[in-house]
Amino acid sequence: MTKIRTARRTHGFTESVIRGMTRLATEHGAINLAQGFPNFPCPEILKEAAARAIRDDVNQYAVTWGAARLRNALAAKYQEWYNLPVNPNTQVTVTCGATEAMASALLGVVDPGDEVVVFEPFYENYGPDAILCDARPVFVPMAAGQSLDLDRLSAAFGPKTRAIIICTPNNPTGHVFSRRELEAIAELCRRHDAFAVTDEIYEHIYYEGEHIPIATLPGMADRTITISGASKTFSVTGWRIGTIISPPDVTDAIRKVHDFLTVGAPAPLQEAIAVGMETLGDDYYEGLARDYRRRRDILCAGLIKAGFTCRPPDGAYYVMTDFSSLSTLPDDEFAKWLTAEHGVAPVPGSSFYSRPELGRTQVRFAFCKTDDMLQQAVDRLQRVRD
Ligand code: GLN
Repeated sequence: MTKIRTARRTHGFTESVIRGMTRLATEHGAINLAQGFPNFPCPEILKEAAARAIRDDVNQYAVTWGAARLRNALAAKYQEWYNLPVNPNTQVTVTCGATEAMASALLGVVDPGDEVVVFEPFYENYGPDAILCDARPVFVPMAAGQSLDLDRLSAAFGPKTRAIIICTPNNPTGHVFSRRELEAIAELCRRHDAFAVTDEIYEHIYYEGEHIPIATLPGMADRTITISGASKTFSVTGWRIGTIISPPDVTDAIRKVHDFLTVGAPAPLQEAIAVGMETLGDDYYEGLARDYRRRRDILCAGLIKAGFTCRPPDGAYYVMTDFSSLSTLPDDEFAKWLTAEHGVAPVPGSSFYSRPELGRTQVRFAFCKTDDMLQQAVDRLQRVRD
């Protein structure tokens, strides 16, 4: 019985395509524009704080739902940045990356048989996360460059809807949800008594509009689970520090899942992130967005010149492209070919869709790389058309 259950759960999806492309890039010595991780260092102050914490013997388990110093820093951040009051003792959970945050959040609030609304294309973990809960993902199309289609979204909500997953700024489309769009989603959540589970890991990386946590909209703090983390803001994807802000009763449920899954996130690194949050000021965050805008512009100009069709994203650090004027290969073969023959690895578009055919002419590139590496990738891409 247990075995059948396990097989059914884990065979509902394949291995992560994004992580698989990293392995392929390494095999071929290709420039990895697939999995989104920076090739530049994190702020020196974080390295020093982490090393100091280890030397000071902060090496045993932190409190399972997060070190007090980091929870306090997070509560202060949400108040300061978004005017959102957060109780560090009852509303914060620190997890092993935003990945664990999303899985723990959904396992905490979604019951078997529930439905979870997901915009498509979507970051590939969300579908499997819903399946791990024995829930059914309900997909709503929202392509790069499109804004919210409220009729289609309304039609996706029904009596079984337990939650909607929102990722803003969006991976992979780069969409930054506007206040009007978030208000429409909030209204549906209230009407259907559903949770908004919002992945805001790219909250400080946007080029147009503004970042609005849906938890700040009227009546939403009680039904929103806000996920973020240190990976993207501080360029430490390997540290695995994610964060959840949620109402107290929901926090209780999420903390139980988190405790039994992982016990806790790495203690000295939590300390170091707290130091980063307490110390780095506006100039750091402005610099982060400015640097990413420049990287975006280098890659997008190069892609367009090479014959890809794309729209520069408004936020996050990915660009979805259509390659149909360059090749008739399906996306997964094109991605492998580009990696092996041209030394640049993207992610096949189909991995962001529920039905592979929807992404057959698309690949996603990440631009969280130094200018020289992006320039080198751009130079290589110019030869694809030959
Ligand atoms: N979010 C990143 C991406 O889409 C990587 C996430 C991961 O592999 N944990 O590439």
